Amino acid sequence: MDTNELFDKVLGLLRKHHEWFNNSIPLIASENIPSPAVREAIISDFGNRYAEGWPGERVYAGCTYIDQVEIICNDLAKRVFGAEFADCRATSGVVANLAIYSAFSDPGDYMIAASIPTGGHISHGKKEHSGTAGLVHGLNIEHYPFSKEEMTIDVDATKKKIEEMARSGKTPKLGMFGGSLFLFPHPVKELADFMHDYNIHINYDGAHVAGLIAGGRFQDPLREGVDTMTMSSHKTLWGPQGGIIVSYDKYAESIKKAIFPGNTSSHHLHHVAGKAIALTESLEFGKEYATQVIANAQKLGEQLAGLGFGVLGEKRGYTESHQIAVDVSKFGDGGTVEKDLENANIILNRQLLPGDIKAGRHYMHPSGIRIGVPEVTRLGMKEDQMIDIAHFIKRVVIEKENPTIVAKDVSNFRKEFQKVHYTFDNITGAYEYISLVNRSKQ
Ligand SMILES: *Cc1c(COP(=O)(O)O)cnc(C)c1O
Repeated sequence: MDTNELFDKVLGLLRKHHEWFNNSIPLIASENIPSPAVREAIISDFGNRYAEGWPGERVYAGCTYIDQVEIICNDLAKRVFGAEFADCRATSGVVANLAIYSAFSDPGDYMIAASIPTGGHISHGKKEHSGTAGLVHGLNIEHYPFSKEEMTIDVDATKKKIEEMARSGKTPKLGMFGGSLFLFPHPVKELADFMHDYNIHINYDGAHVAGLIAGGRFQDPLREGVDTMTMSSHKTLWGPQGGIIVSYDKYAESIKKAIFPGNTSSHHLHHVAGKAIALTESLEFGKEYATQVIANAQKLGEQLAGLGFGVLGEKRGYTESHQIAVDVSKFGDGGTVEKDLENANIILNRQLLPGDIKAGRHYMHPSGIRIGVPEVTRLGMKEDQMIDIAHFIKRVVIEKENPTIVAKDVSNFRKEFQKVHYTFDNITGAYEYISLVNRSKQ
């Protein structure tokens, strides 16, 4: 293909992607759909500018309006999370975590965090797994003991573990809460005082649950004793892709330096504008949204369990967050189930479950899938639609119906859900393709 054809080809593939998502049920737990206003912000000229540093102390000229937006963004983040200090410049959740590692620890220090099969994120991981904490910042990682029954960190066993680490001269410098498979709140208030007695800096990684925290519906890490909270701005918090850090004034200078020059140069100013818009939506609609997200997740868990799926966390009502975890090993492995569902336009991902690594399973063929409802909820779906979604999943995974046939029904089902809800203006469709070029339709 010549360059002209490739130019059209890429534009055509973008359109196809939009069309596919417009006919699908998007259930990836870490994803969401931003409002048209956020999309407008991210195609603005802010995305072509530089503004290193802090508003008012920039390294670059041309920041008159950029500074105003960034100040609004930081103020909104403080309001939404009830924080003294906010920095919205991290270009992703991983960068936000890296800034915390750089500000509050040195290479060779220890960090205690959740292991990946118990919900931890690769950015909390060990060097031998190419985890960010180990590979990039040289931290040694120890894992929290985990209760499979309760599907959360085991408080008593964690205290013993930290005591043991201290006895052998390995007192953690950092304690990381939060994760990616995250059904129930972590025991922050139960452990914060204990950890502070060992001078452990506590960070809460709210990448997944930031939108629920914003809505006052999960846990409130800053009130429960954490020192800093990192997050992604695009998971349950419905902004553009990026990161945010919130904390106390006493940590402000260390965090600011760790973000710039430590871990960013360009901080993606269009995304800062998008974060500001998303945070206004959060203040206005966040509570209602978070409440519906959790109700939907619980409903979906209960429905799938009723249809014969092994939904984790049964003892505690399956979930208190936006996601559920399902053991599908009776019907195949997580990898095949993911693929079959994708062919039916149901998009979710396979998931390592607690115990998988010990059982010799790995991330390509784990025993589980993870299902998240942030995006379908943003599209206006409620409990009734969760019943429909559970049946679509059953047809593919248990009844092994031809995915192409299910895809047609999925596409029909989606017709009523074309707009972004919980926002001030939704004149543009949720997945409507915005074209700025004059090429014949691809
Ligand atoms: C998704 C995720 C991240 C990474 O965030 P990015 O914005 O993708 O860099 C960090 N921590 C946790 C717990 C996550 O789930």
